[in-house]
Amino acid sequence: MPDIDVKNVSFEYEYENKKYLALDNVSLRIQDGEFVCIIGQSGCGKSTLITLMEGLQKPLAGQILIGDKNVDGPGKDRCMVFQHYSLFAWLTAERNVIFGIKQVYPKMPKKDLDRIATDYLHKVGLEGYENKYPRQLSGGQQQRVAIARSLAMNPDILLMDEPFGAVDTKTRTELQDLLLDLCRNEEKKRTVVFITHDVDEALYLADRIIFMQPKKIRRDIQTGFGKDRKRDELTSSPEYQSLRRELIGLFYERVRDEIAEEGAYI
Ligand code: ADP
Ligand code: MG
Repeated sequence: MPDIDVKNVSFEYEYENKKYLALDNVSLRIQDGEFVCIIGQSGCGKSTLITLMEGLQKPLAGQILIGDKNVDGPGKDRCMVFQHYSLFAWLTAERNVIFGIKQVYPKMPKKDLDRIATDYLHKVGLEGYENKYPRQLSGGQQQRVAIARSLAMNPDILLMDEPFGAVDTKTRTELQDLLLDLCRNEEKKRTVVFITHDVDEALYLADRIIFMQPKKIRRDIQTGFGKDRKRDELTSSPEYQSLRRELIGLFYERVRDEIAEEGAYI
């Protein structure tokens, strides 16, 4: 499977006749099969970067390559999961998953569609919920359907923009474990780009953490925690604690800079 190569990418928004530079000459190479978390304070350009990878927007300068192909629109090799549940309200959980699969495999026979959809709904722990509509499911269950759908679409690259940002802490922990489990146990090794502003979430999930400051990448850290990490052991380890302090320090550094720019004492 191909790498994602972000090469000298800049991006500008235009809003009420004013231009705003959201990314300034960002370069990043994500290896095939890596689980990368992008963190950084709100507004630093995380969502902009991931939508460029998805192909929904085009860079102002530079380019994004997947393998040797330039990204110039959405593709079947990539699938995005957002914070806000992107399910169709008028389709059951199963029909939502089938809808996704049909986008990628339009000619797949009905019995295979049904089998794959059921299979993935079971994998995400939703046995018995196949015929429920989104409104009959909790937020966490809806995100499980969204994960089932995106995996059933069999992408090489899973793009996730704060997918667990809107659920309670316990559900969030369960969804993190579910995602890691699915990524480790599926036959196909997918590349995951996962945005969060939660340091602990990034440390638990990622092989590599990219810390962004407004418009730029500030730090690129290989966590080195190993694939079979256990949450309790990991979070109490000195390596985890030290990386955690460093990342939290980076968040506060920005806040201090901003306060200093305003001319206030801290
Ligand atoms: P993040 O996901 O890290 O919170 P974004 O990528 O959403 O950040 O936004 C980066 C910057 O670009 C922010 O300052 C934001 O206000 C600005 N921005 C995002 N979307 C738009 C838009 N559609 N129009 C104008 N400015 C935008
Ligand atoms: Mg965002």
